[in-house]
Amino acid sequence: MNPLYRNDTPGTFPASWYAATADIPDQRPALRGAHSADVCIIGAGFTGLTAALRLAQQGRHVIVLDAHRAGFGASGRNGGQVSSGFNWDQHALAAKLGDGPARALWDLCEDAKADLADLIKSHAPEARQTPGVAYGIYTDAERRKVHDEVAFLQKSYGYNQITALDRADISALVKTKAYHGGSLDMGASHIHPLRYVLGLARAAEAAGVTIYEGSEVHNIANGTRVKVQTPKGHVMADHVILAGNGYLPNMVGQVAAKVMPINSFIGATAPLGDKAADILTRDIAVADSKFVVNYYRLSEDKRLLFGGRESYSVGFPNDIKTALVKRMCTLFPQLTGTPIDYIWGGTLGITMTRLPAVQKIGPNIWSAAGFSGHGVALSGMSGRILAEAIMGDTNRFDTMQSLPVPNFPGGAAFRAPLLSLAMTWYAMRDRLGL
Ligand SMILES: Cc1cc2nc3c(=O)[nH]c(=O)nc-3n(C[C@H](O)[C@H](O)[C@H](O)COP(=O)(O)OP(=O)(O)OC[C@H]3O[C@@H](n4cnc5c(N)ncnc54)[C@H](O)[C@@H]3O)c2cc1C
Repeated sequence: MNPLYRNDTPGTFPASWYAATADIPDQRPALRGAHSADVCIIGAGFTGLTAALRLAQQGRHVIVLDAHRAGFGASGRNGGQVSSGFNWDQHALAAKLGDGPARALWDLCEDAKADLADLIKSHAPEARQTPGVAYGIYTDAERRKVHDEVAFLQKSYGYNQITALDRADISALVKTKAYHGGSLDMGASHIHPLRYVLGLARAAEAAGVTIYEGSEVHNIANGTRVKVQTPKGHVMADHVILAGNGYLPNMVGQVAAKVMPINSFIGATAPLGDKAADILTRDIAVADSKFVVNYYRLSEDKRLLFGGRESYSVGFPNDIKTALVKRMCTLFPQLTGTPIDYIWGGTLGITMTRLPAVQKIGPNIWSAAGFSGHGVALSGMSGRILAEAIMGDTNRFDTMQSLPVPNFPGGAAFRAPLLSLAMTWYAMRDRLGL
């Protein structure tokens, strides 16, 4: 089943709060006929558009192809949380890879946040980047672990934007009785992701990039130059970047072996007005330690944007709302009965280790995917790193490629049933509080 079309109408943004509050341009034309480019990029999300912008700024002729619209994928519909580091505790990464390599990877993640802040400032200030992401945990044992990680970041890396929270601290910020403590990272932030990705598309075009929408790539033919085929045209390119993440159909074996699509869902309540302070006392975002993470924040019109459900088959469940609202009201019983005005889902790529898979697939084919719910800053950085590699500087590509990202057991054919079984088991443990 093709993840590009299973849950969405071709060329149409989902009915999200983001789409309702962004300035969406008219649809761009589809690719027709024969074209040539230095670099052809498949996918117009954070990864593809950041790569395109960086390449065009260095004088490369770039064509971007998207099956739907620029910003249609996860980039235009995510939780908007710009987190620090990877999806791992940094001291676990240091234990696995050694202090030097782990530090280089942390620095790269800090660069990713800085790049994103610069891009938003220059091209999409309306994305309203706002500092602060709290992490909530459910047990005292978890609290000790999180506080150890905070101490590691402060002492070993001099990262002082993060502070440890005990139970009283977090309940002053987040009005739930569920959390036993956690952390607050003021170097992390949250944004309106659709406004940002639309701004990136405008910036890329201003730098000379051509974006074709409604242009699904269904075949890539290797050669000295790569032929990228869409229904009504093709591009001959010196290099190709695969930037389709969870939406990329099962077209390239090396990507499918490491990256699996899953779905995540978000609901937006009706505006809460003054009652918003009964949920969050500051304009921060929150994620928590459930295996299926709850992630939420207030919108500029004081809705709670609450994400926290996943599904592991290509198709979305018929009823997204009931389970999502149940999770929200378990954390915040005070929201019981609050209307949900918008509800939507999106597809993202995950890997075995929840670390991104940045790869060279062939002499002139590159891929970045599998950011595993941690991609708002890292996908753009990965796009930039691929652009650097294509222009001859593979330094940061080598660092990123050093992340341990094994193939899924069972390969592309069996990864989905095996993994969805495992994920369903862990999600069930969440529900049982184990
Ligand atoms: C609901 C949800 C919540 C999330 N929350 C967060 C969060 O709070 N923080 C965080 O860091 N990360 C989060 N993520 C993950 C984050 O959004 C992604 O890691 C990131 O957006 C990936 O960007 P991308 O450009 O690689 O892929 P996408 O933005 O998915 O873009 C891929 C594009 O490729 C196109 N495409 C695919 N195949 C083809 C083809 N064959 N031909 C042409 N076009 C093709 C698609 O149409 C799509 O537009 C979330 C994801 C989801 C779905």
